Amino acid sequence: MTTVTISPRGEERLLNGHPWIYRSDVAKAEAGGGETVQVRSSRGRPLGYALYSDRSEIAIRLLSRDAEAPTPALWRQRIADAIGYRESLNIDATAYRLVHGDADRLPSLIVDRYGDYLVLQTLSQGTDRLLPGIVEALVALLQPAGILARNDPRVRELEGLERRVEVVHGTVPEMIEVREGGVTYQVDPYRGQKTGLFLDQRENREAARRYAHGRLLDAFSYNGGFALALAPACTEVLAVDISEDAVARITANAARNQLANIQARAMNVFDELRELERAGSRFDTIVLDPPAFAKNKASVRKALSGYKEINLRALKLLTAGGCLVTCSCSYNVSEADFADVLASAAVDAHAEVMVVEKRTQGRDHPILITIPETYYLKCFILRKL
Ligand code: SAH
Repeated sequence: MTTVTISPRGEERLLNGHPWIYRSDVAKAEAGGGETVQVRSSRGRPLGYALYSDRSEIAIRLLSRDAEAPTPALWRQRIADAIGYRESLNIDATAYRLVHGDADRLPSLIVDRYGDYLVLQTLSQGTDRLLPGIVEALVALLQPAGILARNDPRVRELEGLERRVEVVHGTVPEMIEVREGGVTYQVDPYRGQKTGLFLDQRENREAARRYAHGRLLDAFSYNGGFALALAPACTEVLAVDISEDAVARITANAARNQLANIQARAMNVFDELRELERAGSRFDTIVLDPPAFAKNKASVRKALSGYKEINLRALKLLTAGGCLVTCSCSYNVSEADFADVLASAAVDAHAEVMVVEKRTQGRDHPILITIPETYYLKCFILRKL
């Protein structure tokens, strides 16, 4: 068995419950990239077993603190545990996340279910090498009709892995029909964003439905997740996304669900909000679900000013008694930072704003208390007084 010796600072991190060791805390590595290694302290004490990467800044991803090396049975048990947890949630949808990486003790492995199909991502050298065994375990546990490896995210480049999309079991069609609550979607697992849908917002769409009323503006709508879920509770819906493709899918999805009150527009939200304000438009419900404005620490300041601008404009467009569902999926913007931005937007908009709900990603995207990186999505449901 190959071994990696870490620094006292790295050891401290493991003792505090975090499974990642950065390259700067690796003292000595007698291992090749992608191998499962034994981790040792600077004094040679065994600390557990991990996946090793010879390229990423995250050199070590801890798998277990056991004295014995992990076997395929451990991977299979963890996948079974992850599936069992989702089964316990009584999810009212046929599309949801089955495996959420570190939060399921399956580092850098993502598995999403879309009806009878699975879409997975192996995002480190370690999981990439173990892909055949992972597929075997998924087939044994779930008997899917097909599994697609959607291995095109850019993070794979940090691991020195190629970006590719391939069917690794059975067959996977170009379009899969799934249901989320009362809404059905056609999902493109090969080309859709992420693995096809923004599954992490499912429970926030359910929650928003409780407050949605009157005229709805769904900003950064992608293929209409919020617009379609909230339309039955609203009189009219305007969905805005910069992508022409996304807008075409909203229109198709609205027709498929017999929702006649949805209009979709391909526009930059920053311009559209300004335009709506100039035109004197008002909305009773507004959803802001932008992409991660802060992809790293260096861009946090600029991100905060982006969040401020859209929230300020949205609060101005909102009627009294109206509802603003506002999200940030930037891990680098903390909940406290985001709350500060919302407070300052409220002050500048001369609005008094109540926090009705503070929410996060859906329970199928769990958060591990010792891994702050697993808590990325913030969603505030606000009421303008
Ligand atoms: N609300 C969606 C997910 C949104 S993801 C859901 O529930 O499924 C973010 C979306 O913002 C993407 O579809 C992207 O195309 C869009 N986008 C990014 N920048 C934009 C901009 N400046 N104006 C409008 N849309 C933008």
